[in-house]
Amino acid sequence: MRIKTKLNLGVGLLFLMIIILSLVSGYSVFLIKADTENILKANYNTLEYSRNMILSLDEIKMSTDEKIHTFKEYLGKQTQNVTEPGEKEATASLEKSFSLLEKNGSNETLKTQIRQDIFAIMKLNLDAIKQKSDIAKHTAETANLWIAIVGTLCFLIAFNLLVNLPNNIANPIKELTQSIKEIANKNYSERVHFTNHNEYGDLAKSFNTMAQKLQEYNNSNLYKLFFEKKRLETLINNMHDPIIGLDNEGVILFVNDEALKIIGMKSEDVIGKSASTLALSNDLIRSLILKEEATDSQKKQPMKIFAHGKESYFDKETINITITPTGEEREINIGDVIILRNITLFKELDFAKTNFIATVSHELKTPIASIKLSLQLLQNTKTGDMNDDQKQLVESIKDDSQRLLKITGELLNLSQLETGNIQLNIEKSNPYAIVNYATEAVKVQADQKQIKLIIDADENLQNVKADSEKTGWVLINYLSNAITYSSEKSTIVIKLKEENDQIVFQVIDTGKGIDARYKDKVFDKYFQIPGSQKSGTGLGLAISKEFIEAQNGVIGVESNLGLGSTFWFSLKV
Ligand code: ADP
Repeated sequence: MRIKTKLNLGVGLLFLMIIILSLVSGYSVFLIKADTENILKANYNTLEYSRNMILSLDEIKMSTDEKIHTFKEYLGKQTQNVTEPGEKEATASLEKSFSLLEKNGSNETLKTQIRQDIFAIMKLNLDAIKQKSDIAKHTAETANLWIAIVGTLCFLIAFNLLVNLPNNIANPIKELTQSIKEIANKNYSERVHFTNHNEYGDLAKSFNTMAQKLQEYNNSNLYKLFFEKKRLETLINNMHDPIIGLDNEGVILFVNDEALKIIGMKSEDVIGKSASTLALSNDLIRSLILKEEATDSQKKQPMKIFAHGKESYFDKETINITITPTGEEREINIGDVIILRNITLFKELDFAKTNFIATVSHELKTPIASIKLSLQLLQNTKTGDMNDDQKQLVESIKDDSQRLLKITGELLNLSQLETGNIQLNIEKSNPYAIVNYATEAVKVQADQKQIKLIIDADENLQNVKADSEKTGWVLINYLSNAITYSSEKSTIVIKLKEENDQIVFQVIDTGKGIDARYKDKVFDKYFQIPGSQKSGTGLGLAISKEFIEAQNGVIGVESNLGLGSTFWFSLKV
């Protein structure tokens, strides 16, 4: 039954019962009132008249007496007030006796007869009063019974409403509120269970439909997310580079198969574990999570790891993952992804190239040296005279073979550096002697351009800890470049000074200078400033850097485009 109907019925019925109760009570009071009125009117008055008639009778002495009138008056009223069976006959008898008494007022026998008649009338009325009061009593009892019945019914209905209605209304609301809270907490499987055919039944049906749709929506989203997660996991697993994902507290979230292979652990021993805890027992994990502490030069070094049955090389890249949560402006760090790029193939190719260069340059050195020797023999007059053209040709071949020798020398040096085969012979060396040696070596080249080489140095400088051959090679390279990039008849200053327990070697030219854009790049391998002489290899400064840094020195350049350059390096005393 619907709540509205229930309420209407309950309250309506109660209202009706109250009306019935009022009517029954009113009617009963009316009946009792009628009964008592009837007694008063019909019997009490007769008794009153009778009493007055007896009083008047006692005082009647003769037929002219005034009391006769009084008696007659009450007798007349009694005649009008005959109500009980037998009363009419008794009154008629009284009238008859009274009419005789009117003629003979002192007749005592008649008076006695009249008294008897009056008593008969009084008795009749007293009996009637008794009977009527019994009837009134019965009416009152009936009224009581009815009022009790209707009152009890009212009580039962009210009690029923009181006990059932609040629960009927409040219980489903309570259950619904609880279910709404569950749904708000994302428990979409929650349902309400009141299935009555009333308004709450409709509400429950609508609520359950809504919850089911939310559940379906949620499941479809979850499925999508799960699918996407699987896809990403498969993608990461199929990548050939080892990948490790960490959350912002350093707990490992995912590791692909390649990464598991190189760290030599099982997925279940790694996922969900703290990387720093694992690092205590796993060297590789320790070096992987090593972050800022590493210096620049360490970071650039590829990691050498035994993987795929051989020594492999990996470039480590740590990507910091940040997100901006919905509704917020500030980015937050949610973790890191460590990617190891397998560069073994490139390293192998690099090794092959270095070996090839080393072999070729080494093999070329001997024939070039013999060409140079043959050229010297050719220039010797003992082997015959040459005309001017031939002499020029020989000079040109000599220059080319000199350049070839320089190039093969640089390539050989580079290959030695790359393979780590560089042999340093560091000893206390006189810086002035090194400068002198280098200046002598480039004298011919400088003379060709009529360039003046000036050494600006104190001959009593402290000795420097250096490999004089390698340091000399660097100075020769500096000077050779300075001569190449300076104009004819210019001056190049080779300066030596002592600064903070360091000897600084400077080669100062007034040549074309270096654009600020390329200043940091000139020390890179194979780099040549666009538009510069193509005869070089772009290796000289790179080798110089390696040589100086191998001796714990510092190397650098200051330059102004169009005004000249100062190439320098410093070594400890
Ligand atoms: P290269 O064999 O080409 O000289 P280097 O490594 O010695 O190779 O020099 C790299 C580049 O630096 C050169 O190509 C040149 O452009 C520039 N460079 C070197 N020294 C000087 C200098 N003194 N003045 C101007 N440019 C220079």
